[in-house]
Amino acid sequence: MAGPDVYVVGSVNADLVVRGLALPRPGETVSGGSFERHGGGKGGNQAVAAARLGASVRMVAAVGDDELGEEAVALLAEEGVDVAGVARLDGTPTGVALIVVDEAGENQIAVAPGANRSLAAEWVERALRGVGAGVVLLVLEIPDAAVLAGARAARDAGLPVVLDPAPVRGLPPELLELGPLLTPNRSEARALTGEDDPERAARALAGRTSAPVVVTLGAEGALVLDGERAERVAAPRVEAVDATGAGDAFNGALACGLAGGAGLREAVEAAVAVAAESTRAHGARAVRGRDC
Ligand code: ADP
Repeated sequence: MAGPDVYVVGSVNADLVVRGLALPRPGETVSGGSFERHGGGKGGNQAVAAARLGASVRMVAAVGDDELGEEAVALLAEEGVDVAGVARLDGTPTGVALIVVDEAGENQIAVAPGANRSLAAEWVERALRGVGAGVVLLVLEIPDAAVLAGARAARDAGLPVVLDPAPVRGLPPELLELGPLLTPNRSEARALTGEDDPERAARALAGRTSAPVVVTLGAEGALVLDGERAERVAAPRVEAVDATGAGDAFNGALACGLAGGAGLREAVEAAVAVAAESTRAHGARAVRGRDC
């Protein structure tokens, strides 16, 4: 039986990683590490997380007409993600993240958004036209107009929207007025509101969306604000080796749970557990298969 429907509107990148080196200083060349390439982009990572948890995932995104784009799409398709909504843009490079990781796990990342920056609102609208059920998951490595088109299509179809405000930037009021469930991490919540305290930040955000807010708190789990009520959901204690993509695992799992009919608190509990588990393995696509 097909799993719950999750529509991910977001970024797809190729992650090009050189590992095991000292991080280069400005003007310096360091040599000797090993090279890896992985599928990346917050949207792609979230789509893979939801798919591994059993959701029927449709990805709405843009890559270039280059080899990296072909590979990025193939990696999503191998995970069972429906890639019919991934545009291949002529004469545009696929989004790339250049990542250097040193022996202590510290990293340096430069991103060229490429085709992600050209994801058009009309494409998003067309890809989501006629959707019937499920959850729309939005992330910000794409233009505001594309994010807004995703949120509007969801509203027209009567579907709930989860919006991961990452990488953080000011959100257009017309987007917030559509009432997305926001899922900032602690620093994004602070950047959006100026409030250090996650609960105060969540209340400030809920004041703009009139919707529940979930603030993720790393090893401490998450805070759920639903109406007047704020509750903490603790994360299980794990031996975390790599928290890259933990937020993506969280959002993919949350969307999957909500699409499957779970209540907010229940879906957050499951997503916290999935995300915690994902930090025990390396890489940004570390969610292991089970039901959401
Ligand atoms: P982001 O990855 O976006 O910065 P967080 O650091 O808040 O977001 O992590 C998202 C989720 O991942 C948390 O809610 C938690 O479930 C899980 N997580 C992250 N780091 C740890 C950790 N060290 N131990 C357990 N769970 C973690």
